Amino acid sequence: MVHGLPRDASFWTFLFSVDQGIAEDTREKACPCCGERLHRANYPRKPRGADDLPPAYGLRLSFCCQRDGCRKRVTPPSVRFLGRKVYLGAVVILVTTMRQGPSPRRVRELSKLFGVDRRTINRWRAFWREHFPLTNFWKVHRGRLVPAMEVDVLPRSLIEAFIRDDDDREGWKKLLIFLSPITITGGLKIEGEK
Ligand SMILES: [Zn+2]
Repeated sequence: MVHGLPRDASFWTFLFSVDQGIAEDTREKACPCCGERLHRANYPRKPRGADDLPPAYGLRLSFCCQRDGCRKRVTPPSVRFLGRKVYLGAVVILVTTMRQGPSPRRVRELSKLFGVDRRTINRWRAFWREHFPLTNFWKVHRGRLVPAMEVDVLPRSLIEAFIRDDDDREGWKKLLIFLSPITITGGLKIEGEK
């Protein structure tokens, strides 16, 4: 059985508050290059996959070192945005999962629910099946998950490991925090790849 997202619109507000917490931690650590203070330097996003998103979803939280000559950009991990993908991270996971399993949802149905086309869904499936399992992140973290996961059922097995029912926002929070290291630059690196 595959669970959906909490239907309450406050779910998205909730995830934003998680991102704010992660961003605060990042800011407190200061610039990783020179130790100077970080300035807020958010950048605009236009996420897709859900209606009635809070206005804050137009922003990816980010910082910039305040020191001239450094100005290092520091973007914290996110539970809302999955790297450069325009769709919300939770939607990317959920839609791909709904296409898997014994009774996969039809593309037409998923398109109606989330506004995703067939090509995008196929790209996501290839991402979870072919790219994600090879990442350093997955090699390091898969052992933490019990039971050991079958790669060919990703990301379905992730949902099953973390989420209990349709309103399990804590489960979604845990899953998205678990995956958040892959949402920053270099987070999807594959060993040996430059
Ligand atoms: Zn700096």
